[in-house]
Amino acid sequence: MFYHEKLQSVLLRIENAKQNSAFKENTKLVAVSKTVTYAEVLGLYKAGCTAFGENRVQSLSEKCEKLSALSIEWHFIGRLQTNKINQLIALRPALIHSCDSFELAFEINKRLKVKNQTLSVLLQINSAKEDTKAGVQPENAVQIYEKILNSCQNLNLKGVMSIGAHTDNIGAIQKSFETTREIYERVLPLGAKYCSMGMSGDFELAIKCGANIIRLGSVLFK
Ligand SMILES: *Cc1c(COP(=O)(O)O)cnc(C)c1O
Repeated sequence: MFYHEKLQSVLLRIENAKQNSAFKENTKLVAVSKTVTYAEVLGLYKAGCTAFGENRVQSLSEKCEKLSALSIEWHFIGRLQTNKINQLIALRPALIHSCDSFELAFEINKRLKVKNQTLSVLLQINSAKEDTKAGVQPENAVQIYEKILNSCQNLNLKGVMSIGAHTDNIGAIQKSFETTREIYERVLPLGAKYCSMGMSGDFELAIKCGANIIRLGSVLFK
């Protein structure tokens, strides 16, 4: 019951935000389970949520294994160290949101090629240009996007991801989302499908700015 109510209230908020958005996007919800146990994932899954995201390869691996009987779509949303790439590939995530440099894309691609496999990824953009955040600089994003498309044949590059500016200043958060959306629109002709932005504290604003994937943790689990 707890999860059912949580999920319904979040879905209602998403619906309302869509109504207030000029972008008529279908918003995909990824539940971020990084702070909860697999039992809690199961609770939310039973309430109707089927896409989950983890930010560490180890926790993704553990939850995948424990919940392998369910048809969950797993997303990887965290920093990826080169020495964890093979482990992540083996888990076959639906989408890696956090490809944050050409070099990382190249490394993932190299390992996929050996295995004759492909994976879907998003290019992470450091839209607010914060030292603490990963991602490519917004002014270089389109060029790097094209470079990955041209040199990483085993990656399905499907769009962009960003974390909203870390501040209480709503205008600054909005600006970081608008920057991400602008880049998304520039790579639309290159086959982009996803603009992943918005977390528990700012997802309504992200939807207003054109997000079509939101990643929510605390608002669903606390
Ligand atoms: C933790 C995390 C989220 C979810 O954060 P909440 O504020 O709990 O909704 C979304 N995206 C990324 C990349 C995260 O690390």
